[in-house]
Amino acid sequence: MKQISVVIVGGGLCGLMAAVVLQRQGLEVTVLDKGKGVGGRLASRRLRHGEAVGCFDFGAQYFKAQDPLFLAWVEDWLNAGVVKVWAEGMGTETGAIRSQGVKLYRGEPSNRSLAQYLAQDLRVVNQERVNSFHWQDDVWQVHCDSGQVYQGDRLVVTAPLPQTLDLFETSAIKLPDYAHQTLEAVTYDPCFSLSLLLEQPSLVPDPGGLWLSGEPLAWMACSTKKGISPQGYGVTVQAGPEFSRHHLETDAAQVIQLMTEAAQPWLGSAVLDSHLHLWRYSHPQNPLDQPFLFGDFPGPVYFGGDAFHGGKVEGAALSGLAIAEHLLNSLAKG
Ligand SMILES: Cc1cc2nc3c(=O)[nH]c(=O)nc-3n(C[C@H](O)[C@H](O)[C@H](O)COP(=O)(O)OP(=O)(O)OC[C@H]3O[C@@H](n4cnc5c(N)ncnc54)[C@H](O)[C@@H]3O)c2cc1C
Repeated sequence: MKQISVVIVGGGLCGLMAAVVLQRQGLEVTVLDKGKGVGGRLASRRLRHGEAVGCFDFGAQYFKAQDPLFLAWVEDWLNAGVVKVWAEGMGTETGAIRSQGVKLYRGEPSNRSLAQYLAQDLRVVNQERVNSFHWQDDVWQVHCDSGQVYQGDRLVVTAPLPQTLDLFETSAIKLPDYAHQTLEAVTYDPCFSLSLLLEQPSLVPDPGGLWLSGEPLAWMACSTKKGISPQGYGVTVQAGPEFSRHHLETDAAQVIQLMTEAAQPWLGSAVLDSHLHLWRYSHPQNPLDQPFLFGDFPGPVYFGGDAFHGGKVEGAALSGLAIAEHLLNSLAKG
């Protein structure tokens, strides 16, 4: 029997979960990602200043596992030592507790490690930006900026939906109206995420995460109390959607200054170094209830990611798993 090949655009959690399941079932899977490493919005970085080295999760902060299917995966990851329970609830600046009694997980040693663990046996090509697709002779041709062309019997696209729609437009593939309208309906908030390497421990209370008023800042996390930064003190500061949208074109140095000033009550220390990242598509505001979208447009293609299945890390993972299941079932049915 001919081995079925699948090209997956995006090495975030959705793409990686789909890839792991499909490869285990003997399919030939290639994951393409424009980033330097895997993980997408499961993103971690280091900042160094002299002896001090801070580690920061500057995308997703933690995740929940409420669906039994996802929980089973998380339990495997706990056993493998690639995730930990960070806390069971997180405080707000007014003293209230959100998600009280709910396990909030993080990657170990940091969130990107989970993506690296999933990718370890996969064929992942990083720094490979896809620019167009063509369905030719019953095979998807996936063209990249590098000049490489990857071929697949099935295509899975997990980029944020505005980027996905741009790719199809560039490819001159007209999606059916219902598909285009479904994908176009999902809108995303931008989010500035600022990593600050500190001289002294921060004032963020235990267990190291703090929900703020929402604007200009929505959230702060102390990397040290979170347990991801043993060699340096640091905080991750996230701006709210209004602030982020308002400052999309503002000079980065000014955004850093404004966010650092707003975070001052919780810093308690001089800042040794900083790094600002803009997530243009941080969270879908109105994720779709369905786990993915599938169609012959004109060849078999799946649209997945956190725009589906309720959003967030758990939604992205479940979307990837649902895509893999549907694809395998469709092959079994011939
Ligand atoms: C600041 C921030 C905080 C968050 N906090 C939380 C949280 O606390 N809890 C929670 O559950 N969720 C949180 N989230 C959301 C969570 O990170 C996402 O829901 C989840 O990681 C999305 O996974 P994904 O696979 O759908 O998409 P992504 O992780 O975005 O993966 C998509 C991948 O596609 C790649 N890509 C895009 N276009 C191309 C192209 N043309 N060619 C090749 N590759 C391409 C990208 O590089 C990316 O790696 C947060 C997100 C942000 C930004």
